[in-house]
Amino acid sequence: MKYERVRNFVNGSFKEVSSQRTLPVISPTDGSLLAEMPCSTAADLEEAVQAAKAAFPGWSKTPIKERVQVFFRYKYLLEQHLQGLAALVSEENGKTMSEAVAEVEKCIELTEFATSLPQLIAGEVLEVSAGVECRTSHVPLGIVASIVPFNFPAMVPNWTIPNAIALGNCLIMKPSEKVPLSLGIIARLLKEAGLPNGVLNIVNGDSEIVNAICDHPDIAAVSFVGSTKIARIVYQRATQHLKRCLALGGAKNHLLVLPDAKPGMTAQNVAASMSGCAGQRCMAASAMIGVGAVDHIVDLVCEEARKIVPGQNLGAVISKESKERIEKYITEAEAQGARILVDGRGVQVAGKENGTYVGPTVIDYVTADMAVAQEEIFGPVISIMRTETVDEALRIENANPYGNAASVFTQNGGMARYIAERASAGMIGVNVGVPVPREPFSFGGWNESKFGVGDITGKSSIEFWTRLKKSTTKWNPEEGVNWMS
Ligand code: NAD
Repeated sequence: MKYERVRNFVNGSFKEVSSQRTLPVISPTDGSLLAEMPCSTAADLEEAVQAAKAAFPGWSKTPIKERVQVFFRYKYLLEQHLQGLAALVSEENGKTMSEAVAEVEKCIELTEFATSLPQLIAGEVLEVSAGVECRTSHVPLGIVASIVPFNFPAMVPNWTIPNAIALGNCLIMKPSEKVPLSLGIIARLLKEAGLPNGVLNIVNGDSEIVNAICDHPDIAAVSFVGSTKIARIVYQRATQHLKRCLALGGAKNHLLVLPDAKPGMTAQNVAASMSGCAGQRCMAASAMIGVGAVDHIVDLVCEEARKIVPGQNLGAVISKESKERIEKYITEAEAQGARILVDGRGVQVAGKENGTYVGPTVIDYVTADMAVAQEEIFGPVISIMRTETVDEALRIENANPYGNAASVFTQNGGMARYIAERASAGMIGVNVGVPVPREPFSFGGWNESKFGVGDITGKSSIEFWTRLKKSTTKWNPEEGVNWMS
């Protein structure tokens, strides 16, 4: 085992977990055992909640301009430790080193946003009638929790850590059991940056801890990122306990490619979007709808896909189960009559025979009723459907229950606008394959890609992590005491 048993981070220190039940952390690239991750119990969560409760009065009373100083230092430390953290992200998740570096760079951008929160949450004040003033202020919620998935071991935790904490909350973080290691470094860096003990606590575990978080009476809000199946469970359970909840789920992102799209640029974007992070991105293009004559672009997509080589510029998928699931989707589509133009099944990387790699896969003549067209595959696979009209393409996009992202590739501005207005997705791209809104814009999908109000990052997160206090104050000068007489 390469690393020591994973520990929780409670009240500023790493702590052994009481439970003997563990799950293995497996390297996706070579199948080796990286670490054992103990499954915390409700008693471990309780300890973390008590630490957070003890820290909350001091932290919430600290002026926000002081609180964000921690994040100025954290940003600097992320820059200093970029390569080391990225190497661990790559190791435990299986993505390539350049993808992991980009992930840590995104953590830096998220932290930079948090340092601007004092400017953004400055309240409003107005004299509403003579001597009467109304003002608003954003007040932290208290103890809050964040539950995260495996596909971005550093970035998704940093969607919540800087904003929730800078806004005055104390946070319980539940890492993915598949990638719990990077968060250990993040906790160390935050401690070094001066974050007081108990403000961030990490409780490792699986569904038992997620359920305990949803049920805990002292946790005011739960943010969740993961599959739609679990997002629904968490949203229902947390809100049943009258908590505020924002639960981001899975995705099936469509790229609508029109015949006038620039062929080279479009093909590069399609291939990069479907294969980046081995297709394990909630913003990955998973379905391409070619409208009209786009064979020349499909040929180029295949050409681009063939340049993507597992073990070189394509990372591994997270597990053996994932690899099997992805390959099953491809095989089923083939049996149903789709054409596999580029086939990523059965890939082995020399020297890494136990790695779980799937090669880039392009499937053409997929029909909208196939599972490969409807469901999230979460692998480097693009399913190409064909339509005669834009409206037909939009009907397919609109009918899908997910709604994270949708993009259009065209040189016709009017048509781009027509599609952008009608696509049923929270994040829209025009000639952009991965339309992630960068800070200060907020990140979040629609439909079954997100349950709850608002978005998880950017300005929208302020509403989620705080509640608004409205104060009305009356000072009547005529009733004032004249201290001079
Ligand atoms: P997952 O839903 O399996 O796990 C997410 C979290 O839920 C983990 O911390 C896990 O421990 C916990 N969990 C798992 N099963 C549970 C259960 N039965 N009860 C309670 N908690 C449970 O997701 P994953 O496989 O880690 O991540 C991939 C998924 O996340 C994909 O569907 C992807 O689209 C989605 N994702 C979405 C976004 C977004 O912004 N919408 C971002 C990243 C990932």
